[in-house]
Amino acid sequence: MRAVKILLVGAGLSGAVIGRRLAEAGHDVTIVDSRDHVAGNCHTARDADTGVMVHVYGPHIFHTDDEEVWDYVNRFARFLPYKNRVKTTAGGQVFSLPINLHTINQFYGKTLRPDEARAFIEAQADTRIIDPQTFEEQALRFVGPDLYEAFFKGYTLKQWGLHPSELPASILKRLPVRFNYDDNYFFHRFQGMPEEGYTHMVEQILDHPAITLELNTPFARGDGAGYDHVFYSGPVDGYFGYELGPLGYRTLDFERFTYEGDYQGCAVMNYGEESVPYTRITEHKHFSPWENHEGSVCYREFSRSCGPEDIPYYPIRQVKEKELLQKYVARAESQSDVTFVGRLGTYRYLDMDVTIREALDTAESFLKAGTLPAFVMPPL
Ligand code: FAD
Ligand code: UDP
Repeated sequence: MRAVKILLVGAGLSGAVIGRRLAEAGHDVTIVDSRDHVAGNCHTARDADTGVMVHVYGPHIFHTDDEEVWDYVNRFARFLPYKNRVKTTAGGQVFSLPINLHTINQFYGKTLRPDEARAFIEAQADTRIIDPQTFEEQALRFVGPDLYEAFFKGYTLKQWGLHPSELPASILKRLPVRFNYDDNYFFHRFQGMPEEGYTHMVEQILDHPAITLELNTPFARGDGAGYDHVFYSGPVDGYFGYELGPLGYRTLDFERFTYEGDYQGCAVMNYGEESVPYTRITEHKHFSPWENHEGSVCYREFSRSCGPEDIPYYPIRQVKEKELLQKYVARAESQSDVTFVGRLGTYRYLDMDVTIREALDTAESFLKAGTLPAFVMPPL
C-alpha cells in the first residue's frame, strides 16, 4: 500500500494505538485532540502539592486476558502489580466487594464455609427467575433481596438515574459473586498500573517520527479534506453536529478534596445507599501503592445526566438511545473515507484493553484493505 495521509481525531487510546501502527507501516499520521493533553479519559497527572498521581477523569485499572494487548502496553510502560480491592459502606458498616465469602459472613453475622454460603445464598435467591433480563432480576436471582438492597439498588439508582428493573442484566454481570475470600474486583489474568501513569504511556505510543500531534485542536466535519482517510474517536452524534439530537450519556462530577495522611485506607470506597448523594470516594495515592506521599488527593464522585457542556462518560444504550443511534449509524455509513472508532465513536462502554484490541485490529484491517467502512465494530 502506498503511503497515505491519515487524520486521527482524538489522542486517547483509540487514536494513539491506530496512529502508531499506521505510522510504523510508513503512513503520514496527524492526530488532533481538542484537549490540552493526550490519553483521553485515561489521563493521569501528578498533583503539584502532594506529588500524588491523579486519575483526572476517574480511576483506571488495567486488566485483561488478552496477552497480546498486555504485551503491547508493556512495550510502552512499566506496569507494576496492582489488585483492585473495593470496599463499600452500607448500613453503618464497611464491607468487601465484589460480594465474596467475607461479605456474606459479615453481612449475615455467620461463619459459613464456601459450600454452606452457596447453599445459604441459593436459599435467599428468587429461583423462579429462570432467565434474568434486567439488572434487578439478575441480582434477585443470584444474591437475593438483602444483598441487592444493601449494595446494588441505591448505588445503581445513583449511577444510572434509572431503576435497576429498567437496566439490562449485562451491567451487573460485570461483577462476580464469589464463595471464597478472593476480593480481587476483576478476574482477568493480567492486572496492573503503569508506573508513570497512562498519560506517560500514551506519550510513548505517540513518540514516532511519522506522527504529528496537535493538541487544543477541535475537529469539525470538513476538516478531513486533504486526508486520504479519517479515524474519528469523538462522539458519533457530535460528528454530525447533534443534528438529530444528542445521544444519552451519564456524566460524572468529581468533588476534589485533599487530606493530610490516609483518608480512607483504600483506593475505592463505594456508597451503596441512596441517601448518600455520591456513588464513591476514590483516594488516588492508593492507585500507586509503591509510592509514599504524606498528603492525599480524593474525589467524591457524583453521577448525573449529561448536558451539552458536560463530558460524556457512560453511554446509556436504552431502547430510546439505540433508536437514535441507529439513525446516526445510517448517516455515518453514508460517509466515505471516515471510520468511527472507540468508546465515543461507536457509543459503547469499552474497557481499555478492549479499546486497544479493537484499535490494533482496525489498523491491521486498514493496512490490508487500503480503506475501511464507517464501522469496523458495529455499534448496535
Ligand atoms: P477517549 O479516552 O474518550 O478519547 C477520545 C478523545 O477524543 C478525547 O481525548 C477527546 O478529547 C477527543 N475528542 C473528542 N471529540 C473531539 C473533536 N471533535 N475534536 C478533537 N478531539 C476530540 N477502562 C478500564 O479498562 N479500566 C478502568 O478502570 C476504567 N475506568 C473507567 C472509569 C470511567 C469513569 C470511565 C468513563 C471509563 C473507564 N474505563 C476504564 C474505560 C476507558 O476510559 C476507555 O476504554 C478509554 O478511555 C477509551 O479510549 P478512547 O480513545 O476510545 O476514548
Ligand atoms: N454496582 C453497584 N454497587 C456497587 C458497584 C457497582 O450496584 O458497589 C453496579 C452499578 O450499576 C455499576 C455496575 O454494578 O454500573 C457495574 O459495576 P462496575 O464497577 O463495573 O461499574 P462501572 O465500571 O460501570 O463504574
